[in-house]
Order: sequence, then C-alpha cells, then structure tokens
Amino acid sequence: MNDEFDAVFVGAGHNALAAAVHMAARGWKVGVFEQAGVPGGAVKTGEYTLPGFRHDWAAMNLSLFAGSAFLKQYGEELAHQGMEFVPVDKPFASVFPDGRWCGVSMDAEATAGRIAAFSKRDAERWKALSAGFGKDAPHILRLLGSPMKIHSIAYFLYKLFAERGVSGMLQMVQFLLASPRAYLSENFEAPEVRAMLGAWGMHLDFAPDVAGGAIFPYLEGMAGQAFGMAIGKGGADTIVNAMTATIRAKGGVVECNAPVARILSEGGAATGIELEDGRKLRASKAVVAGIAPSAFARLTGGTEPAFDAAMEKFVHAPGTMMIHLALSDLPEWAAGEELRSFAYVHLAPSLDQMARTYQQAQAGLLPDEPILVVGQPTVFDPSRAPDGKHVLWLQVRMAPGDIRGDAKGEIDARDWAGAAEPFAERALDVLERYAPGIRKKILGRRVVTPADLEQDNPNLVGGDQVCGSHHMSQHFLFRPARGHADGSTPIKNLYLTGAAVWPGAGTGAGSGFLLARKLAGK
Ligand SMILES: Cc1cc2nc3c(=O)[nH]c(=O)nc-3n(C[C@H](O)[C@H](O)[C@H](O)COP(=O)(O)OP(=O)(O)OC[C@H]3O[C@@H](n4cnc5c(N)ncnc54)[C@H](O)[C@@H]3O)c2cc1C
Repeated sequence: MNDEFDAVFVGAGHNALAAAVHMAARGWKVGVFEQAGVPGGAVKTGEYTLPGFRHDWAAMNLSLFAGSAFLKQYGEELAHQGMEFVPVDKPFASVFPDGRWCGVSMDAEATAGRIAAFSKRDAERWKALSAGFGKDAPHILRLLGSPMKIHSIAYFLYKLFAERGVSGMLQMVQFLLASPRAYLSENFEAPEVRAMLGAWGMHLDFAPDVAGGAIFPYLEGMAGQAFGMAIGKGGADTIVNAMTATIRAKGGVVECNAPVARILSEGGAATGIELEDGRKLRASKAVVAGIAPSAFARLTGGTEPAFDAAMEKFVHAPGTMMIHLALSDLPEWAAGEELRSFAYVHLAPSLDQMARTYQQAQAGLLPDEPILVVGQPTVFDPSRAPDGKHVLWLQVRMAPGDIRGDAKGEIDARDWAGAAEPFAERALDVLERYAPGIRKKILGRRVVTPADLEQDNPNLVGGDQVCGSHHMSQHFLFRPARGHADGSTPIKNLYLTGAAVWPGAGTGAGSGFLLARKLAGK
C-alpha cells in the first residue's frame, strides 16, 4: 500500500462527491478515484458538438440538487467555489398532435389558464392540489429524505395518522402505491393534462401503468409551479466542479483516469482499493463504491451468496439516447412561440403512447415513435452558446439497451453502431413534425446511444439513466437489496452509494449524503 486515507471512493458520481465533501468537512482524509477523464458521471458538461457550444452530457435539470439537504448544509461553501444556478420560471410544457400545447410555469394564474383551455374542471382540480401541496409535500419529502428503515415508514404513517386520522393516512398510502394513470385519471379528465403530467414518470421508468409512479407526476408538477427549475450556470458541471474544488481545498484527493480494479478486504472488513495501474490505496474507516450492483462481485470477488445474488439480479430500466444539437436558432414550435420560453418541451402526446413506447423498449424493440424531452437550456443561460446561438438537449425515451427488433419494421441493425443514425433520424422526424425546419437550424450534432452512455459510465447499464428500475419491488426498503437500503454490504466498512441505493436516481445527492452523515456524523 502506498497511500493512506480514512475513506476511499470508487467513482466520482455526484453522490460520492457529496459524501466526500461531508466526510472531509468532518476531518476525514478522503480519496475519490474515477475511471473517466473528468468527474461527475451523469453530471458533466462539454463542447460535444462545436467549439463554444456547451452541452450537458446527461443531467440538465438540477432542481433536486438545488433543493437537497446536502445543499442546505454546503450551499454557501460550494458557491464560494464557483457553483452557480440559473433559475427557470417556466419549467415544462407538452405539445400535442392537434397543434395545441399546455405548460406549467411559476405564474399560477397562467398555469391554471392553460389547463382551463383543456378542461375548466381540471383547472379547478389543479388549483385545489396546488393549495394542498404545502401540507402534503413535507410528509412525502421527509419520507424521501430519511434513511430507509422500517421505523422511517412507521414514523411517516404515525405522523399522517396523528394529523389526518386513519382515512387520511390510508389516502396517502393509496396515492404512493398508485400508477401515474390511476392517479391522473382520478384527478383530471382532459387526456392532454394527464399526458403533460404523466410525462414525468417517463423520466424514471414509471410508464403510465406502473404501480408506485403517481408520486413523480404529482411532485414534479406541483414543484414545477411552486419552485420552477434550476439549471447550472454554464452547465450542470458547475456542481461537480465546486464539489471537487471543495474536497481538494480540504486536503482530499479527486483523481480521474483511475479505474478501480478491486476492492481489498482482510478478515471480512474492507481495507482499501486497487487501481488498474496496480496502485493500492488503504482506507482505515470506509470504502464507498458508487457502482452499479452488477459490478459488485467483480470488484469484491464475492461476499455472502444471498447478497451477491441480489446484486446480480438487480433489474435495470430501459435505456436512453441523447442527441445534442448546436443550433443557429431555437426551434420554431408550430403550436406557439411561447414554447420557446420553456426549459423542457415534452413530445409525449398521450398516456397510451407512453405506455406503448415503454413496452416496446422493454421488449427490446426500437420504439416506432419515441418520447422526446426537448431541453432548451440556452433560453435561460445564453452563456452556453455563442451570441444568438443555442444548444438543444434531446432526451429520447425509451430505447432498448440490447436491440432485438424495430417496432416500425424499418431498421435492420441489431447493434447501436448500426442503429444510432436511423433511430436518431426517427427522433428528429418527430421533432420536425412539431418544430418544422429544425434540421435546417442544426450547425452540429452528437448522437449518444445507450451503449455510448454505458461506455462512458459503467453504472448506466444498457443506457439505463436511472441505474436500476425504481419499481416497487426494487425501491424503498428494497433498494438496492432487502436490508441494505442504507448502503451497507456484508463486508464491514464497505458501503454502496449512488443511484442504485435508496433514495435512488436524480441529482439530489440523497444516498451519498445519508451515508456520509451516518458514518462521519451530522
Ligand atoms: C441521460 C441522462 C439524463 C439525466 N437527466 C437528469 C436530470 O435532468 N435531472 C436529474 O435529476 N437526474 C437526471 N439523470 C439522473 C442522474 O443524473 C443520475 O441518477 C445521477 O447523476 C447518478 O449519480 P451517481 O452518484 O449514482 O453516480 P453516476 O453519475 O452514475 O457516476 C458514477 C461514477 O462512477 C464511475 N465508476 C464506476 N465504476 C468505476 C470503477 N470501477 N472505477 C472508477 N470509477 C468508476 C463512473 O465512471 C461514474 O463517473 C439523468 C441521467 C442520465 C444518464
């Protein structure tokens, strides 16, 4: 061994970095070792098309980070290291095939007005839900921000019972178990309003008919109106750069191009890591692996059969394709110019369409009409492109990791090397339908397939952007495995962190911060 730390980290995803910041602040000597050329994993920014055009490689929406418990504690320090957000007051909208659109903005009257254009009754329901958000959200957010133990669930239920009685408590439980379609159909009558909110389920792997998904359309819809969205000034990497600088300022190490080949242990306790270049780094208190569960056995050589089997069987969600465009101008949305002022425009026209796309991707088929999330970050942050120019962040949901066929019967390729271009063209055809002339505005483009996402970051297995399905059987107490939602493993001092661990994917730094507080104190 030639280097000694209190804690070493496998991978520099944002959860690992957040944990390292907290441990370093508690006086621990930390070392973070990342296989890629830059830290951040799914949160990074680069000139992927043309010089001067800065694209978020994966995550663009940093609202979860901006609202996180981690940021509450370290926001000031990170701001000193240059972290800056750009607030977004018009977070999302959807366009529909008949040429109409609907969107949620921080102007509550305007939002209700847009919904009323589809259904007056839905607008009233939206207002009622918005009015109740302040009372409901603290319960839900407390649960999502707690270490996942039986007693957290018991406390959540007790608080609800004390405040609302048995009926109110059961109502919340029913909501948490509901599918997006069940919840949205119960609350809204206009198919377009249901679709606008249901699109948020597709950011995870909650297609309309998957139990447990109602919470995402609800939270994203309500929070979108109440708080808007936050994106990074200059790019999402603003948070990664600031965390990395903070760790280094506290004497820690963040090293890139340093793949970890093995986790070392003696007598049932983790003692450090070995890098691919043969260097061994000792950790006296903790080894924290921000990895996909499927990598666990390879790195450790195996532990207890039951735990190893759970890691091996961990289920991934369908993949994502990203298309980064450098544009001479913003899209000209046929449905209305105001769409140019929203951060996300969803091309996800109906719950049925989303259900079909999801099912096709699950079955290994290239969807005949993929769902698109069209991110327009330069509307709010012009610093990401040369004067008057724009970048477009196109997320193509869903796409199969392994291609078994084409739902449209047109693409013969069965690997991503061959399918990338025709499938990207299919996605651009969809965009062209809603924003005519978009192809003529393209100055540069970069297609990132599910295979490219995984090659860049091995945690995104099959391009699964959430590092593991969040369906009920693999969430809450079961993420990543029953009894290990706190990141513990059968090896003493070895912990898992990242999107595969409760509370799961997104940029909220949840699993990293919960673990760091558990190990190093609050
Ligand atoms: C395309 C896409 C779009 C997304 N959009 C959003 C969004 O807009 N908003 C949002 O909130 N969330 C979004 N997400 C989800 C969110 O970005 C992720 O859930 C989150 O960033 C995962 O963080 P993590 O800490 O698990 O680490 P990851 O980001 O998965 O990083 C893990 C790191 O570990 C490294 N690593 C793995 N194995 C090794 C090894 N053996 N040795 C060394 N290094 C290793 C990897 O290279 C990687 O850098 C998106 C994700 C993707 C992929």
